[in-house]
Amino acid sequence: MSRRRQIYEGKAKILYEGPEPGTIIQYFKDDATAFNAEKKGTINGKGVINNRISEYVFTRLSHIGIPTHFIRRLNMREQLVRQVEIVPIEVVLRNVAAGSICKRLGLKEGDQLPHTLIEYYYKDDALGDPLISEEHIACFNWASQEEMQDIASMAIRVNDFLCGMFAGIDIRLVDFKLEFGRLYDGDFSRVILADEISPDGCRLWDMNTNEKMDKDRFRQDLGGIEDAYQEVARRLGILNNDDNSPGEVLDMSAHRGKMRGKPAKK
Ligand code: 5GP
Repeated sequence: MSRRRQIYEGKAKILYEGPEPGTIIQYFKDDATAFNAEKKGTINGKGVINNRISEYVFTRLSHIGIPTHFIRRLNMREQLVRQVEIVPIEVVLRNVAAGSICKRLGLKEGDQLPHTLIEYYYKDDALGDPLISEEHIACFNWASQEEMQDIASMAIRVNDFLCGMFAGIDIRLVDFKLEFGRLYDGDFSRVILADEISPDGCRLWDMNTNEKMDKDRFRQDLGGIEDAYQEVARRLGILNNDDNSPGEVLDMSAHRGKMRGKPAKK
């Protein structure tokens, strides 16, 4: 049996060569890391849920005209995506103060920011993904000015859309991280949304209880992480209320109720 070629293994995903030129298979693992991989663990069924949530979010974004790498979901843990050259910048959008900005600027977690903040971090694990400015990006030619204009305008549109989408299911989008990639067509390239959008890279709080429904449950040892991810998927309508299908996701329903102060059910 022919084995497909592994291109890259990251902290939460493995990339394999796709079936056609210019395509890649993204495999979603259950592995979780935090604090630049100082903390490691496994979240049962995370890969299955993130595959579904990311599929859902990228599909919704494509409907409002955001170009993305997503082609189609292949199975429980895999999706087919366009091969891109990843721009080495993590784009973070913040609506509410949480995480690193609280430490850096002495803000109180949960404070609404005067307006949405867009931040850039240089993608380099060895350096711990340092915060950078647009000056750094231009100076070291990590992306062109035109690319940065496209990235910033797409990021703002994604934030506006996702804030509304999550508000509709009583979830506050506190902050999240985006990655972009260059899609080549001969000598020409354009930037499109890449990677994933899931509770691994977003802060999602229950609108009524402020309960955390994202990877901070793992980072801060809050417990109930499987239930939290599952609840996000359920509210998005990805899981069926009655049977919690499909497959592996169903197994996790046994854990429901174990999550401390779990978010209100809808
Ligand atoms: P912070 O800078 O507060 O640690 O993170 C801001 C937001 O970006 C959070 O929603 C966090 O989950 C996300 N984020 C930042 N860096 C990474 C990263 O390297 N991986 C993932 N999955 N998310 C990140």
